[in-house]
Amino acid sequence: MILIPAMIKDTLDRPLKNLRISVTDRCNIRCQYCMPELEYVWLPREEILRFEEIDQLVDIFGDLGVDKVRLTGGEPLLRRNLPTLVEKLAAKPFLRDLALTTNGVLLAEHAQTLKDAGLHRVTVSLDTLRPERFKSFTRFDYLARVREGIAAAGRAGFDHLKLDTVVVRGVNEDEVVALIEYSKTVDAEVRFIEYMDVGGATGWSMDKVYSRQNILDEVGRHYGRVDPVVEVSSAPADRFMLPDGWTFGIISSTTAPFCRTCDRSRLTADGMWYLCLYALNGTNLREALRSGASADELRTLISKGWQVRADRGAEMRVELRQRDPLVSRETLRTDPHLEMHTRGG
Ligand code: SAM
Ligand code: SF4
Ligand code: SF4
Repeated sequence: MILIPAMIKDTLDRPLKNLRISVTDRCNIRCQYCMPELEYVWLPREEILRFEEIDQLVDIFGDLGVDKVRLTGGEPLLRRNLPTLVEKLAAKPFLRDLALTTNGVLLAEHAQTLKDAGLHRVTVSLDTLRPERFKSFTRFDYLARVREGIAAAGRAGFDHLKLDTVVVRGVNEDEVVALIEYSKTVDAEVRFIEYMDVGGATGWSMDKVYSRQNILDEVGRHYGRVDPVVEVSSAPADRFMLPDGWTFGIISSTTAPFCRTCDRSRLTADGMWYLCLYALNGTNLREALRSGASADELRTLISKGWQVRADRGAEMRVELRQRDPLVSRETLRTDPHLEMHTRGG
């Protein structure tokens, strides 16, 4: 029997299409905009969802309309046997997109296995091409490994490779053009992300945000002309074309967010479900699952949650007159779920 997914809509008429699944809250580097602290409170191991549990939940989300899944973290490649999960998910006919976001440090060893397991797409986060800068920004000297990982992803045959760069004023805004040029050499599309005031970004301030406009100005100065690529999409990035036809993207989550078309929700490694990156509370799907809820009960729990969704976190932040990090360092210590590395970005 083929089950036609029920299209559920939230209060702003947005469907539930996209699920970001964080498979671990651990990370092997410490990006300053995400994990600036020396110590963290980690999710208890026994609460981390097993692959069978993730698989079960993805089927339920699929029944409700989800057709895109992105695996993330923390660093997803730290999750043991990740290709086994990829294989399970890749076998689901309703998933037309199965992607992974990684910092790339372990990608060289895993790219081919992930491709063979059926992963469709890979996005690698890359903020700098300068080894010393990489080291001071992440506390680890791993740039060469990341670059090897990107090359390995290309060799493994992943199409539409993407590079995600968070641009922080005073850190890497001088590398926008260099990153575009690098993206050409590895046949990837680079997407510049504005520094966001969410999760572990405790050092965030508006003056460190290198905005969409700043990026367009800089690219325009260098290349002469930048044209928007006109397309209808719920994807967060706006794409632009250079005179030679090469494209890049900008995700302007801080100065010009895109909540009105947001069809994404997030599942943390321990099964908390969040309707928005900025949401302070979520729904505990692990507890429901482990206490024996039936598929029908889980479907009802999720669809009811989505149908009352009114979240437009980033847009509401733009409306603030005084803008500081969403959550303080002290509050983050009381609940790891508020961290970006737990929510998956
Ligand atoms: N560890 C993997 C990685 O870095 O690609 C996956 C998880 S990470 C939380 C997902 C994305 O969130 C990364 O591209 C990262 O750059 C982005 N991110 C984390 N903190 C951010 C912030 N404060 N502002 C903007 N993007 C952020
Ligand atoms: Fe950096 Fe991703 Fe790790 Fe956060 S989770 S510190 S963004 S690599
Ligand atoms: Fe979606 Fe929330 Fe991000 Fe807006 S802030 S785009 S509603 S996740």
